[in-house]
Amino acid sequence: MRNLGGESMKEYDVIVIGAGTGLGIAFKAQASKLKVALIDKGSVGGTCVNVGCVPSKILIYHADRITDIEEAKKLGIDAKVKRINFRAIMDRMKATIDESRTWMENEIANSKGLDFYNEEARFVDAYTLKVGKETMKGRKIFIAAGRPCPHTACQRSK
Ligand SMILES: Cc1cc2nc3c(=O)[nH]c(=O)nc-3n(C[C@H](O)[C@H](O)[C@H](O)COP(=O)(O)OP(=O)(O)OC[C@H]3O[C@@H](n4cnc5c(N)ncnc54)[C@H](O)[C@@H]3O)c2cc1C
Repeated sequence: MRNLGGESMKEYDVIVIGAGTGLGIAFKAQASKLKVALIDKGSVGGTCVNVGCVPSKILIYHADRITDIEEAKKLGIDAKVKRINFRAIMDRMKATIDESRTWMENEIANSKGLDFYNEEARFVDAYTLKVGKETMKGRKIFIAAGRPCPHTACQRSK
């Protein structure tokens, strides 16, 4: 930690902005015994885990099963969808997301030499970021910040 006229500056070997795909970079750097900061202003796991690949595939899986039943007649099978418990489907989806995110959060918490900041990062100088109230410098900074999700549903669930 460096002191700049009363204001302290943290120093890292590697800083990663974004805990989606950025998580892999952070873990790899931490495994190489580097001092690492991982920053995410939203939920650990990023788009894929929280609002993208994982939830969409769970919903698509259920929709496919319904379609299988509806189209079974073509195969000579007489079957009917009687009722769809959409609440149960959504609960299952949310439980899967929570489980994945919690696992990642625990891995981060148990990773020595890896500091996690649940804040927004912004550049204030070369190799220097303002993260909440902290100022930090990184020898290498990886930007894995994705892109903003245009759907209001994404904003709500983060
Ligand atoms: C509905 C849907 C379904 C999808 N399905 C698939 C699929 O089946 N297969 C597939 O390959 N891809 C799929 N994708 C795409 C996939 O989710 C994205 O390509 C992937 O998540 C991008 O990863 P990323 O790490 O680049 O960004 P993200 O996962 O978006 O992570 C970026 C992170 O950076 C954080 N961040 C941004 N700016 C800052 C800042 N200034 N300070 C701090 N933190 C910041 C954000 O909070 C976010 O958590 C899907 C996407 C959607 C929306």
